Amino acid sequence: MTTDVLIIGAGIIGAACAEALAARGVQVTIIEQDAIGSGATAAGMGHLVVMDDNAAELALSSYSLSLWREFVGTAPGKHEYSRCGTIWVAADDEEMDAARAKGDVLSSHGIECSLLGAAGLYEREPALRPGLAGGLLVSGDGLVYPPKSARIMLERAMANGTQLVMGKVSALLDGGVLLADGRELRAATVVLACGSRSAALLPELPVVPKKGHVAITDRYPGFIRHQLVELGYIKSAHASSGESVAFNLQPRPTGQILIGSSRQFGTEDLSVEPAMMKRMLRHAAGFTPALAGLNLLRCWTGMRAASPDGLPLVGPHPGRPGLWLATGHEGLGITTSLATAHLLASQLLNDRPAIAAEPYLPARFAALASHQNEHGGVQ
Ligand SMILES: Cc1cc2nc3c(=O)[nH]c(=O)nc-3n(C[C@H](O)[C@H](O)[C@H](O)COP(=O)(O)OP(=O)(O)OC[C@H]3O[C@@H](n4cnc5c(N)ncnc54)[C@H](O)[C@@H]3O)c2cc1C
Repeated sequence: MTTDVLIIGAGIIGAACAEALAARGVQVTIIEQDAIGSGATAAGMGHLVVMDDNAAELALSSYSLSLWREFVGTAPGKHEYSRCGTIWVAADDEEMDAARAKGDVLSSHGIECSLLGAAGLYEREPALRPGLAGGLLVSGDGLVYPPKSARIMLERAMANGTQLVMGKVSALLDGGVLLADGRELRAATVVLACGSRSAALLPELPVVPKKGHVAITDRYPGFIRHQLVELGYIKSAHASSGESVAFNLQPRPTGQILIGSSRQFGTEDLSVEPAMMKRMLRHAAGFTPALAGLNLLRCWTGMRAASPDGLPLVGPHPGRPGLWLATGHEGLGITTSLATAHLLASQLLNDRPAIAAEPYLPARFAALASHQNEHGGVQ
């Protein structure tokens, strides 16, 4: 099998990278140990959201959102896409100040948003509890069903010649990979896109799992209309230790309500933890009391791949020639998948990317930059 680039992992990141590279004529082989998009991609909420904790996050997420709107284009139904918008809910005056500040940043970058007072908030979302101060509506945000989108990306890549190999990579080799069944696949370039499992193949990688719980209700069309996120979420979402829950409610196009989310470090156990689920649901019902009366259909967990600075690693490994990284997307990898693929393909093909690649380069981490490959290749 001839291949230019081997991608390990067919989650949304690997699939997006395969699609972008294959569209430019690169011969890609993608390796997946399980079903396509079955990792964090299947567990995530699929919220396509502009995040602005720092300039690099804003650049990556807003550019990616513009790519998503183009990508879902003429077939939004296939992605279960909805341009529902996000309302960042402000509980009090302090959070209203945060909404105003967020609105100023987004507006200054040309992102459509509007500040809502209490009346505007309740007019749009009557299920919210009384007494909230208002919020910020970001109307270009949306949602997709991520495993479907990942499959569409992979199908497009395969239509352009990408080969899919089912198998588990057990080790990185110099110029290729070793599969658990003993097969060796060779390529000059290997892209590691294994999400939260990436460090299992690359021990020096500063990426750790961050567990999240999610639950979904039966169909209640119109219960809410926008993705609702508490502004307090910003405080908890990027903590690098401990446990937290935040109010994050999504109206699925099916009429179901997707309820998130929690954050926990220090575990790789995917079991649903009743105490954490209860805490998350109670918190959500604190914002939308009628939620407590709805039927829950299913709950599950997933692992985000968290990097120390909350930004993904996209680009060459500074100490292992031929090895490239596309991982560490934390809680934003559905949103940022398309921009990640664009950055990776541009760097690999020596094109000028649409946004600066530097903030996401793996070389920013000393653990990688100082890695010396004594054997002269990927081991
Ligand atoms: C609870 C939760 C909610 C989230 N909500 C959102 C959201 O609303 N919006 C958003 O933008 N993001 C969200 N995210 C984040 C998003 O889901 C992830 O960032 C994204 O799915 C990461 O994709 P990935 O392809 O890197 O990883 P994954 O989807 O985990 O894919 C990695 C793939 O690699 C395969 N693999 C691993 N090891 C090997 C191996 N050794 N050999 C072969 N294959 C291997 C796995 O089987 C898997 O298919 C959420 C995440 C969670 C957990």
